[in-house]
Amino acid sequence: MNKEDFRRLGHELIDWVADYFEKIDDLPVLAAIEPGDLKAKLPAVPPATGESMEDIVADLDRLIVPALTHWSHPSFFAYFATSTSAPGIFGELLAAAFDNKAMLWRTSPASTELEEVVLDWLRQMMGLDPGMLGIIYDTASVSSLHAIAAAREGVEQRIREDGMSGRPDLPLLRVYVSEQSHSSIEKAVITLGLGQRGLRKIPTDSKFRMDVAALEAAIREDKRNGYLPFCIVATVGTTSTSSIDPVREMIPIGEEYAMWLHVDAAYAGSAAIVPEFRHILDGCERADSIVTNPHKWLFTPFDLSVLYCRHMDLLKRAFSLVPEYLRTPEQEKVRSGSDYGIQLGRRFRALKLWMVMRYFGHEGLAARIREHCRLAQLFVSWVDESPDWELMAPTPLALVCFRACPKAFSKGSDDLDALNERLMHRVNASGRALLSHTRLNDKLTLRLSIGNIRTTEQHVRQVWELLNEQLQHLEDT
Ligand code: PLP
Repeated sequence: MNKEDFRRLGHELIDWVADYFEKIDDLPVLAAIEPGDLKAKLPAVPPATGESMEDIVADLDRLIVPALTHWSHPSFFAYFATSTSAPGIFGELLAAAFDNKAMLWRTSPASTELEEVVLDWLRQMMGLDPGMLGIIYDTASVSSLHAIAAAREGVEQRIREDGMSGRPDLPLLRVYVSEQSHSSIEKAVITLGLGQRGLRKIPTDSKFRMDVAALEAAIREDKRNGYLPFCIVATVGTTSTSSIDPVREMIPIGEEYAMWLHVDAAYAGSAAIVPEFRHILDGCERADSIVTNPHKWLFTPFDLSVLYCRHMDLLKRAFSLVPEYLRTPEQEKVRSGSDYGIQLGRRFRALKLWMVMRYFGHEGLAARIREHCRLAQLFVSWVDESPDWELMAPTPLALVCFRACPKAFSKGSDDLDALNERLMHRVNASGRALLSHTRLNDKLTLRLSIGNIRTTEQHVRQVWELLNEQLQHLEDT
């Protein structure tokens, strides 16, 4: 592409993105298509010759946008609502232009050093201990996998050298999580060859927090059986309810049994930058590692997950492998990202986080998270005041768990499950808002997560009205 075309088309595309954000409120949040619809419209064979950018962009409007579920929509309340932001988008654009592969310090000094500085800024904002050093991965799933791999390296069982299979000398290694933990921990355990038997799920209390007495009893029992408990994973901000495990109470248990304590704060970690929510990380200053996802609630485009770890030496021991073609004279003096994970090349992700943090500043980011939490409490108050609705879990941050329970319907659990499921599908099919669900105490529960930078009180009022409208409709039919 010649430079004049690049400039013209680049400006046009930025205009396209600006228009997209201007009209996003009017787009259906959930893609209104059936499985296979898009594939049926795309050619089955690749283009033999190049096409014009104009034609490609026209197809963006015609084919791609209708097949998008709009995560940037201010009425996206499903899963964990997240959002990109202008400085984050610019960061992605520039990273694509630089196209650095930050595998060694010398292949991308800017990426390596900016990452260290930006992650130290974030560590300070979250009030984490200076002994925690950060590293960026793509997702929390991958961050946690690396943390558990480092923990496993710390058990000194020569697993890196000898592996785990065919070893009668190796006891069953166990990781402990609450029943509310994210599936990524179980996947990490599977991936690391520990097997699902290597994961023990601990019950939770009435607020969906890990039962610490049950944790200790489980570890003792496993030790009596000759197993090797080596890692506890606490969750600060569980996926279903955003409940917060009592990390401070778990610390002495980890210490007594010489276990690694990893904290999954993928969602809630960002909230710790707000002074009045910093308490959610209470105890985490003594954890061995903690993951938080700026791509969830720090207005940074997907993907960017941060692992803070107190034992970078173990992480390096688990993963570093330097063939001759990657040896550099400065390698002893600098950090090379590829030493700390399974990837060799790494994207320049720190750039977008740096731009987001500088553009909003600590106070600007905190103000937005604080507002999301205020909006969630407002929604909670409406649910509380209405006889037709009930809360299903506490709301410590910006995720509300609730369901419809109108008197007209039998209180039978199955009836209410079916009603709430239909309600959610009707709301989602309307295209005006998107909710998701979970199951709490075996009851179907609706989840409303507020985390988009464009979500205002008006959007939250709209979804409340929509829910009531749809409930009325179901009651009438
Ligand atoms: N941990 C928790 C508590 C989560 O809620 C999620 C996703 O929502 C994850 C981990 C996985 O996040 P990622 O998509 O970054 O792997």
